[in-house]
Amino acid sequence: MLDKKKIKEKLEKEKNDLLEEMKDMGKLNEETGEWDATPEELEYPESDENDKADRFEDFEARSSMMRTLEPRLKNVLKALKNLNKESFGKCEICKKDIETARLEANPAARTCKKHLEN
Ligand SMILES: [Zn+2]
Repeated sequence: MLDKKKIKEKLEKEKNDLLEEMKDMGKLNEETGEWDATPEELEYPESDENDKADRFEDFEARSSMMRTLEPRLKNVLKALKNLNKESFGKCEICKKDIETARLEANPAARTCKKHLEN
């Protein structure tokens, strides 16, 4: 039997961890509901071209990190929303129960081990 309370706690924790990380690098766009990376706060005005290039690289890194984290956050939010539904813990492909150990390790999992690749 799936321990939904434990799973919920784990999902909440993962959500908070992801949000913490994302808040460091960007902000939620209230209009679109999407996360945008933001450039690092300037402590002093850019003095030369090298600084500008560094800042641009840093922003690129943030953006790519954001693109990795955002789908994870959405997945966690979705799992939280669906936690009490009949379909929770079922593989999206074969509709069978996802292995309990797998779900407990990764509550946002949407497929069984067999369909992991897809
Ligand atoms: Zn499956």
